[in-house]
Amino acid sequence: MIPPIASNFVAGDDAATALAHVETLNDDGVGAILNLLGEHYDERAAADADADAYVDLVERLADRGRDACVSVKPSQIGLGVSESAFEENLARIVAAADGDCFVWIDMEDHGTTDVTLDAFERHARETDGAVGVCVQANLKRTRRDLERLADLPGKVRLVKGAYDEPSDIAYRQKSRVNDAYRECLEYAFREFDGGVAVGSHDPAMTGYALDLHDEYGTEFEIQMLMGVRERAQVELAAAGYDVYQYVPYGDRWFQYFYRRARERKENALFALRAVLT
Ligand code: FAD
Repeated sequence: MIPPIASNFVAGDDAATALAHVETLNDDGVGAILNLLGEHYDERAAADADADAYVDLVERLADRGRDACVSVKPSQIGLGVSESAFEENLARIVAAADGDCFVWIDMEDHGTTDVTLDAFERHARETDGAVGVCVQANLKRTRRDLERLADLPGKVRLVKGAYDEPSDIAYRQKSRVNDAYRECLEYAFREFDGGVAVGSHDPAMTGYALDLHDEYGTEFEIQMLMGVRERAQVELAAAGYDVYQYVPYGDRWFQYFYRRARERKENALFALRAVLT
């Protein structure tokens, strides 16, 4: 059972509670991206168990016909064990989704970027675009990676980047990351046929995306986390934009919640208010 202090950011400790959250979100016009919490496994059995859970989840989502997809972390489904473990588990999940449930691949630290993009490219071509990948504006390579991704089917989620990366390969100053985010977003709206996902809570970035959409007409969606700017999520959906909420669930909730509470004082206060009211 998720304690009230964390339940704003995590849907529940099992798939059933996450699926109930999907219904509520969809009723508000917001789609769901379900993420079973877990990462950095170094044992094959743990990676296989979470991949099994995703196989089950994508089959349930496809049957329900709700507006929901999944997002998996490479180190959760085997990358910490071996590249082949990751690739086999990803292939199982994508095959089970069978084009009826969209599969996102989260991006982790820079040591995993190449293998993640390669896996995305393979599945994007094989499924004709039933998969998506996340790229991080703080990495200096990302603007170039977008040139490769522009020619592929599938979707690309642009985020600022959550990992503490060294300064020879990453921008570390907030304002420089914001500039890089704008530059990457502009490139994606200009060069992609569609499938741009704006993964940010920053009103400056989502506002810029709306301007770029007016200019280039490119299809896009906005993605935000559960528990963060939820009113804005519903308002943007009501205004006719495609909005998806990233919904973590599972019994490994503590570390995720702790990260959200540490990263912004608003998150900690929001969580505290939920307990006190
Ligand atoms: P920030 O730069 O943190 O803040 C900018 C502004 O946004 C703030 O000034 C404020 O106005 C607003 N804001 C931000 N947070 C709040 C809040 N809690 N309450 C109210 N206003 C707020 N990172 C990865 O490295 N890999 C991934 O695969 C990945 N997937 C993601 C998926 C989704 C859907 C999202 C939303 C993020 C993901 N991230 C991922 C995290 C991302 O890289 C950033 O660390 C995170 O989103 C913070 O950057 P930001 O652009 O949202 O806003």
